[in-house]
Amino acid sequence: PIRESKYIWFNGEMVAWEKATVHVMTHALHYGSSVFEGIRAYETPQGAAIFRLREHLRRLFDSCRIYRMELPFTPEQLFEACRAVVRDNGLTNAYIRPLVWRGYGEMGLNPLRSPVEVMVAAMEWGAYLGAEGLENGVDVHVSSWQRVAPNTLPAMAKAGGNYLSSQLIVMEAARNGYAEGIALDVHGWLSEGSGENLFLIRDGVIYTPPVTAALLPGITRDAVITLARQMGYEVREQNLPREMLYLADELFFTGTAAEVTPIRSVDKLPVGNGKRGPITTAIQKAFFGLFSGETEDRWGWLTPVAYS
Ligand code: PMP
Repeated sequence: PIRESKYIWFNGEMVAWEKATVHVMTHALHYGSSVFEGIRAYETPQGAAIFRLREHLRRLFDSCRIYRMELPFTPEQLFEACRAVVRDNGLTNAYIRPLVWRGYGEMGLNPLRSPVEVMVAAMEWGAYLGAEGLENGVDVHVSSWQRVAPNTLPAMAKAGGNYLSSQLIVMEAARNGYAEGIALDVHGWLSEGSGENLFLIRDGVIYTPPVTAALLPGITRDAVITLARQMGYEVREQNLPREMLYLADELFFTGTAAEVTPIRSVDKLPVGNGKRGPITTAIQKAFFGLFSGETEDRWGWLTPVAYS
């Protein structure tokens, strides 16, 4: 659900939303040659703040490096662009979308002949899997589509082209009446949702698939691992077989868009007692507490949007 805002930061300048356009011969449109980020800003008692901006920009630059995209801007410039686009649009609770792409240059596959362009948009945004989903959990299935295999499309890059796989997962899930699909990797291990990482709880221990299971190293995933360990939970990153979905006491997704969303059923089988579980609830509370101020931000995860 796109909510238009006023301005988009486009190749270094703030331009009107409707003026931020590209040519139909843009390389990325034909060959998927783009990388991007999804970042959230939250209203906090200290004003609007961006969650883990540095880590998101690091991943953006990592994605660029994998695809040899030379950004004409420094991380510091993009850091300020993200703050500016939230501020100038008068937003507090917002989704920020930096995008880097191969532009209008030469026809042909070789990406190095097209210019690298950058934009940062920001818009108002609610809960991705629904506000009700945050409380009651969502119904999901195991996708018939697997995640990309190692050494095919790099899963560690957040590249536009990777999201063709995610689109197949999302469409299949929706067609079958599910909120989301969970993909297995090519070896059959649990991987992730189309746009979320996966966590599983059994006997009080928290498990999540390792980055070797062809998943995006999520920044919310990292935040949840850090918070859970600090709360005294044991967190294990390890390969997990599909059947653990059916044996788990609790399951939840993490992601910038999905935040911390409980899963209440998989393949029509209820997870635990079919209600949001106690550990999921505690982790949600700690996570959202970062923005209300109830959880101390010991890690410097919040960047204020306003000039100090
Ligand atoms: N996996 C995929 C495929 C994603 O698109 C996302 C969303 N960026 C995630 C996981 C979660 O990552 P993050 O917590 O950094 O948003």
